[in-house]
Amino acid sequence: SRSRLQALDAAHHLHPFTDSQALHQKGTRIIEKGEGVYLWDADGNRILDGMAGLWCVNLGYGREELIRAAERQLRQLPYYNLFFQTTHPQATELAATLATLLPGDMQHLFFTGSGSECNDTVVRMVRHYWATQGRPERKVIISRHNAYHGSTLAGAALGGMKPMHAQGGLPLPDIVHIDQPYHFGEGQGRDEHEFGLERARQLERKILELGPERVAAFIGEPIQGAGGVIIPPASYWPEIKRICRQYDILLVVDEVICGFGRTGHWFASEYYDLQPDLLCMAKGITSGYMPLGAVAVGGRVAAGLIGGGEFFHGFTYSGHPVACAVALANIAVMQAENIVERVHTDTGPYLQRAWASLGEHPLVGETRGLGLVAALELVADRQSKRRFASGLGAGLVCREHSFDLGLVMRAVGDTMIISPPLVITRAEIDELVGKARQALDLTYQTLMN
Ligand code: PLP
Repeated sequence: SRSRLQALDAAHHLHPFTDSQALHQKGTRIIEKGEGVYLWDADGNRILDGMAGLWCVNLGYGREELIRAAERQLRQLPYYNLFFQTTHPQATELAATLATLLPGDMQHLFFTGSGSECNDTVVRMVRHYWATQGRPERKVIISRHNAYHGSTLAGAALGGMKPMHAQGGLPLPDIVHIDQPYHFGEGQGRDEHEFGLERARQLERKILELGPERVAAFIGEPIQGAGGVIIPPASYWPEIKRICRQYDILLVVDEVICGFGRTGHWFASEYYDLQPDLLCMAKGITSGYMPLGAVAVGGRVAAGLIGGGEFFHGFTYSGHPVACAVALANIAVMQAENIVERVHTDTGPYLQRAWASLGEHPLVGETRGLGLVAALELVADRQSKRRFASGLGAGLVCREHSFDLGLVMRAVGDTMIISPPLVITRAEIDELVGKARQALDLTYQTLMN
């Protein structure tokens, strides 16, 4: 029963990214079942999952093709590793399939078990690469404030989340941060194009300050996800590309959220015309049904790694065969149902139009989005775009109202975020936006009375 599980949970379970005290006062929400874009909780309430779990359940819940692929693989070969010159068909097939979907000259894949492990792999890989080029002093990796690259030590160090760094020892040496291209939050009143250029040029300033001979790579999410769906001004990425080329700095793109159709492209690197040296993916690679990540490696780094002797790096669950089998089935369904195309031409624009209509709500200072990811900024005053006092927790109030109405939205501070399954229909989008509007109304009543 619900109360028994809540008591056991409070007694024994430490949750990720959760204030345990607040949790115990309220009791854990227990999710028991999923089907399509919907979840059911332990009280039988139906909830539209506007976040696709953690931005990952792209094909929605209960897909038979994925379930059957996992079951078949569990019977055939439930586990084997990729170490010491062995492979299994699923990892090899998946690497070859991904190579056909990736941008630029990315023809090689290194498998991991998660997004965080991808970013740990990136740190070791870029330093190893420069060592193979006789440049071991190229160690520094430049990232951005408010980026999210995972929770392992290297992932959290690359990330720019202040509360994570404040909990000790981070960032690690030779990992530094520049400002993010967050126009609404940090560029109010400034020309968007100029703001984008100025934020990108911080990379150049940082490289010159450190000395280009010390810098190994720049890493960024095409659209910062967990930082608040921060869509950079159009001027930003071209300038970052120019700077990386000019100073011979590797470009690493973290597509853990953006990859696999989220933006209406297989990878957002296509949308921004990036040709990264390394690209991280996870989450949507299996629609979240199995844990899996992969680092795609472009020609130049691949040549260095292949010629550079053994790379002493890997995980027991690198390219787990069941996860790879599910990823292959996931990609096959996406291709058979033209999911990426549908997001690009139909459900993406439809959602963005409907979502933009929330911009007229008195609590909303901005709406933004691309494909099937979107955000809105809660403000105390629409005209001046003045924000609520930070202690008020406006975002959390909105998130709780939304959940009670049967919609999962995420709050990052006072930024409300959605990232629904890519199979969402127009009718379900109408329901999502309708519930978001109701949640805003209730939030208005709670905060303004
Ligand atoms: N990178 C990005 C951009 C992410 O959004 C996330 C997770 O949200 C990660 C990395 C970490 O992935 P994981 O939680 O699978 O370790």
